Amino acid sequence: MSNLEQMLVELDAIHGVSGDEERVAAYLKEQLTAHVDETYADSLGNHFFVKKGSDPELKLMLCAHMDEIGFIVNYIDERGFVSFLPVGDHDSRMVINQVLSIQTEQGVVHGITGGKPAHIVTEAEARQSIPLEDLFLDVGSRSREETLALGVRAGDYITFSRTGQFLNGSKVYSGKSVDNRSGCAVLAEVMKRLADREIVPTVYAVAAVQEEVGLRGAGVAAFSIQPDVALAIDVGLAGGTPHIEEKTLPMVFGGGPGILLFDWVPGTSAGNNVPKRLTRRLAQVAENSGIPYQQGAILNGVTDAYSISIAGKGTLTGCVCIPSRYIHSATGYVHLDDMEYTVQLIIAFIEAFQEKL
Ligand SMILES: [Zn+2]
Repeated sequence: MSNLEQMLVELDAIHGVSGDEERVAAYLKEQLTAHVDETYADSLGNHFFVKKGSDPELKLMLCAHMDEIGFIVNYIDERGFVSFLPVGDHDSRMVINQVLSIQTEQGVVHGITGGKPAHIVTEAEARQSIPLEDLFLDVGSRSREETLALGVRAGDYITFSRTGQFLNGSKVYSGKSVDNRSGCAVLAEVMKRLADREIVPTVYAVAAVQEEVGLRGAGVAAFSIQPDVALAIDVGLAGGTPHIEEKTLPMVFGGGPGILLFDWVPGTSAGNNVPKRLTRRLAQVAENSGIPYQQGAILNGVTDAYSISIAGKGTLTGCVCIPSRYIHSATGYVHLDDMEYTVQLIIAFIEAFQEKL
């Protein structure tokens, strides 16, 4: 197993909902401390890994968010059932009949999001998805006291409980939190490969918190670094599956990293129109190095690039994405080749970055 592959598997297995990223951060610290010049954290929980370059004035920020979407316990009823709220954007169709893990102070407690048996579902009900607020978690107890005795409390974070796997010997990895642990693995791999290279810019690799609830960590991190250029590393929506038109999601799974040109959530200010001088440079670097890449513009989605770009006095910011299927569900897909090429593209970009763009 390659280093990148192993980090993907290990990172994906860690439970770290927005606001509860400590375990992910601890893993990255363990992986990277020996390979960088400096490591520190801020009060929100963002972690910084710094590799010094020959020009102390030139700063490049890389950013991958550590958090995954999940839930939080808000109530335990008298029969022991656990109610929960969403942490991040969920599609409620994906949450019914799943095994979930509650991270309690006493350890992990498993539960199932049950529903009515098919035998008693009406025709009208059968056609509807069940709203999140109607779901509950059955932890196998019969009373509030029994559930409390397991250690479950309001405020405990909940994740999908699924062991990741490479499908049938392929390079396709299916896991609960490829958004964005695949990005974290890429970030860590870039820093490891840079360790014994001479580079011009100082590189700040930021493992950021709370992206899924509003891109909160990345902007704060950018404000403190004030980089000359920043790149967010995240998953991007790839199509190629039945019932999705090619023009809806043109990014090809397994087609190489996506260089994001534009994203925007209409009706809000959220989005990042990436300046052409940056997207041009990224494409140029990919072509010079023979790295396959794609370019994409999307609506109704944003990345940390948005909050980085407008933090402080503003930063020239782009996003490099790892094509992914089925994201924001219990099992997203990423392709190992896309991750490897993303690592290569970012390293080639860093090596070409010798003065301000
Ligand atoms: Zn993400």
